[in-house]
Amino acid sequence: MNETRRFGPKKADHPSVRESCPACKQPFAKGDYTALMPLGPSDNKEEQDKCRDGLAYNAVAVEVHYACATGIRNE
Ligand SMILES: [Zn+2]
Repeated sequence: MNETRRFGPKKADHPSVRESCPACKQPFAKGDYTALMPLGPSDNKEEQDKCRDGLAYNAVAVEVHYACATGIRNE
């Protein structure tokens, strides 16, 4: 069971439509399913402290196609 949360299908007027997926460099399009991949605490000192101490923290994340994150295509 894949635990990556799936978002979508993307509507034509979604703000990230036509932006590029950082994994495959292809633009997001209407109907795409996507996932948010956490990167880490960024340069936020409080979030870095929590991350380093093994506590829950707010991570910055990037949107990628769901298939780019999981290998699971949605056609
Ligand atoms: Zn992609």
